[in-house]
Amino acid sequence: MAALFFVRRKPAMKIEQIISHVLQYDMPEELGYSQQYYAMRTAHLVEVRTDEGITGWGECFGPGNVARANKHIVENVIAPMIVGSDPMNRSGIWHQVYNLLRDHGQKGMSIQALSGVDIALWDIMGKATGLPICKLVGGKLRNQVPVYGYGMMLKRESADEHVARFKDEAAAIRDAGFVATKMKVGLGVRDDIKLAAAVREGIGDDYRFMVDANHCYTADDALEVGLALDDLDAYWFEEPVAPEDRDGYKFLRKRLKTRIAGGEAEFTRWGWRDLLDTEGLSIAQPEVCALGGISEYLKVAALCHARFVPVINHVWGSAIAVATNLQLLAALEPLPGGLFPVEPMLEFDTTDNKFRDELLKEPLSIQKQVGTTGGFVKIPDGAGLGIDPDPDFIAHYEVT
Ligand code: CA
Repeated sequence: MAALFFVRRKPAMKIEQIISHVLQYDMPEELGYSQQYYAMRTAHLVEVRTDEGITGWGECFGPGNVARANKHIVENVIAPMIVGSDPMNRSGIWHQVYNLLRDHGQKGMSIQALSGVDIALWDIMGKATGLPICKLVGGKLRNQVPVYGYGMMLKRESADEHVARFKDEAAAIRDAGFVATKMKVGLGVRDDIKLAAAVREGIGDDYRFMVDANHCYTADDALEVGLALDDLDAYWFEEPVAPEDRDGYKFLRKRLKTRIAGGEAEFTRWGWRDLLDTEGLSIAQPEVCALGGISEYLKVAALCHARFVPVINHVWGSAIAVATNLQLLAALEPLPGGLFPVEPMLEFDTTDNKFRDELLKEPLSIQKQVGTTGGFVKIPDGAGLGIDPDPDFIAHYEVT
C-alpha cells in the first residue's frame, strides 16, 4: 500500500503588536546647529512583536515633539493597517502603508514613522533566518567600516570663543582616532570662514574635515563660504542651501572643488530620483530611519549607484540607528570599484548620547573601538541588526 505523505505547512508568522518608545533625557549642556539650540536628547524606537515570540526593533528619525507625533502615527495609523500581517512580507507591507498614506504625506513624518516599522521587519527577518541583515541585503562585503566623528556644535558664546573651541575640539576628535571630522557652521559667512580655518589649523594639513551648514545659506553666501573651503581643502560641504533649492545645489557643485553633500531631508525613491536628476550632489547622504526604512534605502542606494554618486549614510539617533547603518554599510557595493576602493564611512556624533552608548545589553562601544583600531568599527555578527536593547533602560527613559 502506497504511503501518503502530507507536508504540514507551518502557518505564516503574524505581527501581533507594534509599540513605539520615545526616550528622552536632559543633556549635560545645551548644543546647537545653524537652525536651533537644543538641550534634550530624544530617541524613537519601534518594537514589532510577532506571534512566534520574535521581536524586531527599528528607529524613526526625528527629535523632541516630532518623535512624540511620529509615535502616534506608528501606533494609531500604521499599526492598525498591518497587525495580523506576515512580517516577512516586508515589501507588501511597505507598499500597502505607503499607498494608504500617499494622500496624506509622500514625505516627512508619515515616512519617518514607516521607516522605523520597516527596519523592525528586517530585524525580524534576520532573527527568523539566523542571518545578519547585511547578508540578507547582499552580503558582508567588509568586516569593519571607518568612522568619522562630528562635533564642533554651536553654543551661546562669541565668535572668538567658537574659534578657540573648534580648534581644540577638532584636534581632540582627530586624537580620539576618528578617520575624519565634521564641524557645524551657522554664525554667518565671515565668522563661519574663520571657524573652518580654525578647524584646519587644529587638525593640521593631513587630516580630512567636512563642513555641515544645515541649510543656513543662500546660494551666493554658500559660494563665498565654499570658495574659502576650497582653499582650506575641505572634503565636503553638507547641506549648504535649503533642500528645496535644487538649483542652488547645482550652482554650487559647478563652481566649487569641495564636494557637495546632502539628502538627509529627502524621502523615498521618488524624492531621490528628483534630487539626483538635478545633478547637484557629489555625495549622497540617505537617512534610513527617515526615507522609508531599509527596503526603501536599498532602492535609493541603487539610484545613487546608477548615477555614480557615492553614498555615505546620514546617521543620527540611538544604537539601533547605528546598528542599522552598520549593517547597510557592510553591504554597500564599492563605487566604482578598484584595487583600493573608497570605503563608506560611518557618521558618528561625538557629543553626549546615552541612547547610543547605554541602550544595549552589549554596547557597540564605538568610541572605544575607534580609539584602539585606528578609526574602525566592527559589523555586529548576530542575527538581524545584531543587537539586544535593554528593556529596563528603555523603561527608565521612556516618556508618554
Ligand atoms: Ca547634517
